[in-house]
Amino acid sequence: MSSTILIVEDEHAVARGIEYALQQEGYTVVMARSGEEGLELAVNQAPDLVILDVRLPGIDGFEVLRRLRTAGSRAPVLMLTARDDEVDKVIGLELGADDYVTKPFGLRELLSRVKALLRRAYGDLADAVGGRVIRHEDLIIDLERRRVMRGERRISLTPTEFEILRHLASRPGRVYTRGELLELLRDYEALDQDEKTINVHISHLRDKIEDDPTHPMFVQTIRGVGYAFAER
Ligand code: CA
Repeated sequence: MSSTILIVEDEHAVARGIEYALQQEGYTVVMARSGEEGLELAVNQAPDLVILDVRLPGIDGFEVLRRLRTAGSRAPVLMLTARDDEVDKVIGLELGADDYVTKPFGLRELLSRVKALLRRAYGDLADAVGGRVIRHEDLIIDLERRRVMRGERRISLTPTEFEILRHLASRPGRVYTRGELLELLRDYEALDQDEKTINVHISHLRDKIEDDPTHPMFVQTIRGVGYAFAER
C-alpha cells in the first residue's frame, strides 16, 4: 500500500505538476481545488500527508490547517507559501504545519521534502510497505504470520484484537473512530457488535501489549474521537 498524498491547490498547472511528480514516485494522489474540498477529502481519505497551498479561494490554507488539526488529523502538512512571505511561514508553522516550500519551487525539491516528512512521521513504518513487518519500539507486528512480539516475548491476540492493532499501527497518528474500526472489522468477520465493544477489545489489547494499560504508549485514546497508534 503506497502512501496517499492530498494536494490542495487551486492553480491547475501547479497541482498537475505536483501530481505527476508524486505519481512517478509511486504515491497515490488525491486532489482538491478549494479549502472546503480539501478538508472533506482530508477527513474521508485520511491521507498520509497533505500539500496545502496558502492562497485558496474560499477558506484559505491557514484555516484549512487549523480545522484539520482541530479535527484531530495529525498527518504531516507541507505548506506552499508565496515568495518571500515570511509572515506566511511563521503563521503556518505556528498553526501546526510541518514544513513549507516557497513558490516557485522545483519538483525535485518538493519531492525530497515530502519524503523527509513521511520518514519523520512514520519512520520504519513507511518502509513496512513492502516488508510486511511493523515495528515500534520493541513491539513487532508480523503481518504475514499474524504474529505479535514485545522484544523476545510472544503475545497472543484474538483475531479481532490483531485486526484492530493491524489497522491502527499501519497508519500511526491516524485517528480511527469506533465506528470506523467497527466497519473495518466487519470487512474481516461478520460481527454483530456495537461501538462499545470496540472499547472492550481495545482494553484487552492494551492489557496484552502495553507495559501500563492506564498509560498506553502504543494504542492511544483520542478523547471524544477514537483511537490512534502512537507516532514516533
Ligand atoms: Ca493558490
